[in-house]
Amino acid sequence: MKQMRKHLLLLLVFVLLVGNGLMGSLEAFASTHARQSPVLTHTEGGPSSKEELNHEDLVELQILGLTDFHGYLKALNDKNNGQINSPDGPITVGGAAYMATHLRNLKAGKENSILFSAGDDFSGWPFEVAAHREEPTIEFLNAIGLDFSVAGNHEFDVSSDFLKNHIMNGKCFGVINEDSCFNDSTGQRFQGADYEYISANVREADSGNLVLKPYVIKQIPDGKGNTIPVGFIGLTTPTTVEGSTSFQVGALTNDPLLESANKYAKVLKEMGIKTIIAVVHEGGSTKSDAIDFNGCDRPFGPIFDFAKQASAEIDAIIGGHWHAKFNCSIDDPEGNPRPVIEGANHGRLISEINLSIDPVSKDVVREMSRSLNHPVTRDVPADPVISKMVAYWDDKGKERWAKPIARQTDDLTRARNDKGESTLANVAADAHLAAGKKAANPADFALTAASPLRGDLLYNKGKNPADSDGQILFGEQWHAHGYANPVLVVTFKGQQIKEILEEQWRLKPDGSVSFHPLAVSQNVHYTYNVDKELNHRINPDYFLINGEPLDLERTYRVAALAYIVIGADGYETFKEYRDPVRVGGDYWVFLDYLKNQKVIEPPALHRVTSTTLITMNEIQNVLNHYVNSGDVEKPLDKGLSSRLKMAEHHFNQNSEDKAIKELEKFITYVDKRSMQRFISQEAHDVLEVKARALMEKWL
Ligand SMILES: [Zn+2]
Repeated sequence: MKQMRKHLLLLLVFVLLVGNGLMGSLEAFASTHARQSPVLTHTEGGPSSKEELNHEDLVELQILGLTDFHGYLKALNDKNNGQINSPDGPITVGGAAYMATHLRNLKAGKENSILFSAGDDFSGWPFEVAAHREEPTIEFLNAIGLDFSVAGNHEFDVSSDFLKNHIMNGKCFGVINEDSCFNDSTGQRFQGADYEYISANVREADSGNLVLKPYVIKQIPDGKGNTIPVGFIGLTTPTTVEGSTSFQVGALTNDPLLESANKYAKVLKEMGIKTIIAVVHEGGSTKSDAIDFNGCDRPFGPIFDFAKQASAEIDAIIGGHWHAKFNCSIDDPEGNPRPVIEGANHGRLISEINLSIDPVSKDVVREMSRSLNHPVTRDVPADPVISKMVAYWDDKGKERWAKPIARQTDDLTRARNDKGESTLANVAADAHLAAGKKAANPADFALTAASPLRGDLLYNKGKNPADSDGQILFGEQWHAHGYANPVLVVTFKGQQIKEILEEQWRLKPDGSVSFHPLAVSQNVHYTYNVDKELNHRINPDYFLINGEPLDLERTYRVAALAYIVIGADGYETFKEYRDPVRVGGDYWVFLDYLKNQKVIEPPALHRVTSTTLITMNEIQNVLNHYVNSGDVEKPLDKGLSSRLKMAEHHFNQNSEDKAIKELEKFITYVDKRSMQRFISQEAHDVLEVKARALMEKWL
């Protein structure tokens, strides 16, 4: 509809111009039209009516944007990163070294060019970048002369401190060249970004102050010895604060996009700035997205809602975050067209907008704005300096991958037993608890879903020459656990924890029930009963935290990843969390845990018991396990074993009452000996939970 109206308008102007005998170059045509156009009345003191302007008087400004780069320095060949579709078919794209060449070519001959990123420069998945704390990306963005970057949601994945102190100011943490401040490809220690990060709508929760500057102002020469100020407002998706990776509830707050954009457009206008660009880390898409990166067929999504409503003082809008591809012109609230463009992700596209600015009004002559997405093709020479940089970080990544960090005595895998437990999930829960213990209001225990488990850690040596049997390399553990999520510590009431545990079983539309087991940390042992109705399968008396049954009225601190906490793993009650505190990123928390343990023994799968599946044999095996590991002192096991045998004997004789009495005696004995410290806390909890499960089964 909008497109059609625009075409009609242009046709009308064309007819008028032909009628006036004013046909000239396209620029002169548009410039004349702009001067005469009543739609330009919003620009106070707009193109002077007294002074005739030639198109040579207009000041040309090129703005170049990239977005959602996510640290994709290497030219990859997979479909998602190495290809983009055009109406003429797929094009091979991507790679920082090619991007650098394209940027240089695009800038060639342009007197005024400003290069920026619309956010999500980092927190990507390329190992060599993520394992070096995003520093390789900063080296690249410095090298291509980025003028500024908007902070996307992922710029807050660690903390505002990390962004401001480490990324922007080069402040080191931990061991230099090991935890942060690595040597870059020139041999220099990381110094931080040469450019600024901006956001007009992310605030510190405490003070209410903006975390970053809301805008940047660039001065461009007008060719007559004066300058024209150009204001860029940075905006961050309002989903940042409650996003899974950027989760900052309690630390940061997010203002709405529109309100923030309009506020700062007004501020800039009052400063006399008329050329205003909104760089927005928020996106949308079109029906043509998948086939035409310059298409604009039926646009939808928050960036277009924004574009229709945002202050008419804003002359162009650059989006991001959705990894989408479009090149649109959307009318502002006063009916004037303005470019709205998004350039995909991972360095596959560069968005270009050329603006013509009237040096008298210092505002953009809208009708002359031209925008285009350029594919970062590989048919140009790779920039040699950037190529060297990319190769350097790739090598350094390989070195880091091969670094031994701990040993293991057996496989740690995602393979579940019949109760839903796995060795890797149990280690992950223990790692989350260890991190959660460091919070000021520390975690009582941890709950972990299957989602962060990405690969098995096998005892047998892998393909890497640095590997040997039982050796855990940095890269191996990195690929086993984590997806750039923070570990949080949150508060729940006991009743809510029971509900979360019940949500492990979910009714499917076809009436069947699916099982989504949660891993618990080593200080939790519990039993469930799948013979009972949904929502009645957890008995709080059989959910022991450090040997104490779950108290439905008490509050507990639980360590868990943000992804599960915001409800993304489907445990709905998790969303009722309170008092969240971040205690570290999942990759780093897991790494720290393994390093501190030095030698990892796969945890016994004794934390969860199923009433339906429990057998006397299982209890006997557990007892044997703890006797062997010294958790149950000899010869206590003799007395315990004989009670188990007696219970079984009575049960087989159909004397259930007597059998249960024996199990009660067994539990009392375990309790007493545990208090005397002849039985460890863990062995006590496991034996008690399992004996109770068997009693319930027999009842
Ligand atoms: Zn994003």
